[in-house]
Amino acid sequence: MPVYKLDNTKYPKNMEYTLSIIKPDGIRRNLSGKILAMIQDAGLEIVAQKLIHLTRAQAEKFYAVHAERPFFNDLCSFMASGPVSVQVLKSNNAVSKYRELMGATNPKESSEGTIRKAYGLSIDENTVHGSDSVENAKIEIALLFSSLELFA
Ligand code: GDP
Repeated sequence: MPVYKLDNTKYPKNMEYTLSIIKPDGIRRNLSGKILAMIQDAGLEIVAQKLIHLTRAQAEKFYAVHAERPFFNDLCSFMASGPVSVQVLKSNNAVSKYRELMGATNPKESSEGTIRKAYGLSIDENTVHGSDSVENAKIEIALLFSSLELFA
């Protein structure tokens, strides 16, 4: 894993990377093109991308931070229920910029103009994931991408 490529000190102040996932409900409904257009229109650059199908074990590892939550089993089953599209996004303040574009976890509470407002079905099937901090972005990117796949 080329940690150097994700070293924020090498880039202008506030340049960040974040991990984005178009979840199984988004891929199942053929929404990836529309969602990627929203991402790019918001000024986030896609520097790595692929379609994968997580195993249940990989989903559990990815969401390990939620292991004690009551929704953990359902969340992991859902994330392993079909292919997902994963991206590394780059921009100034990429983490907060993408969180804002995603909208609230519950699509019913998300604002107009957000991805979850446009496409989210429920709190379980809320179409997209985005890292919640620069530190977690590094961990999540390292879990899902190899050095050969990063064009940062
Ligand atoms: P996010 O950062 O907005 O994705 O939200 P969290 O990191 O808190 O939760 C991870 C994912 O778990 C969310 O995107 C939801 O799909 C799911 N989730 C979170 N809270 C709940 C909940 O209260 N009930 C259920 N069923 N799912 C939840």
